[in-house]
Amino acid sequence: MGKNNKHIIIAGPCAIETKKIFFDTIDSINKDVDIFRAGIWKARTSPNNFQGIGEEGLSWIQEAQIKYKKPFAIEVGTAQHVELALKHEIGILWIGARTTCNPFSVQEICEATRGSDLEIWIKNPIFPNLELWIGAIERFKKSKIKNIKVINRGFFSESPSPYRNLPRWDIVRKFKKIFPKIPLICDPSHISGNTELIYDVCVKALSYEVIGFMIEVHKKPEIALSDQNQQLKPKEFCEILDKLKSTNST
Ligand code: PEP
Ligand code: MN
Repeated sequence: MGKNNKHIIIAGPCAIETKKIFFDTIDSINKDVDIFRAGIWKARTSPNNFQGIGEEGLSWIQEAQIKYKKPFAIEVGTAQHVELALKHEIGILWIGARTTCNPFSVQEICEATRGSDLEIWIKNPIFPNLELWIGAIERFKKSKIKNIKVINRGFFSESPSPYRNLPRWDIVRKFKKIFPKIPLICDPSHISGNTELIYDVCVKALSYEVIGFMIEVHKKPEIALSDQNQQLKPKEFCEILDKLKSTNST
């Protein structure tokens, strides 16, 4: 896993909170990561919660891209986010699960990406609705985005479940039939909602031809301002990758 291995490892904090914690986190996982992830703008349910560090964090990402010679992926939710990401030379943008549900937002983002060589990752919509996912992909295809990948981050369900979001591999299988060439990434962190299930979700994902994993890691999850329960400590993250490496080579 990670460098020179079969699966792409994308990892980093749910959100950037301070420059120090951000650099401490990525520094401690750098050897195992191909692409870093970091949240700059957070689509929070309540306006009273942390909304993300905003533009200031983009300059830290730019600095980190130069220091570690690795690309970053960030979430965008508006056309202005896309413009700011381009200005700060971020080449991979993902569409969050809440945004994929809203065709107006997806269209606005598409228009902002037109003519760029951005790579776009589209998370499944938060609700188990395959058509919304397909629609978002078609919009980016029409905008001539060549490099599209999708992410299974699980689906909302009211039924009691050990997962925060049901993985619904049945929906993913249908998706794969329609778009067999679009590479699939698994986000076990948002599927699990806790750190205990992450390894098992990754193992299951291996049987669905995923090309990589997007995993939330934080130097001090206990003080994280979002998704505290599901962010792995760097050491736990490395242990899971080691375990996966041996599972995957058998
Ligand atoms: C995230 O990746 O931190 C995030 C908010 O993702 P999602 O859109 O899957 O909830
Ligand atoms: Mn998160």
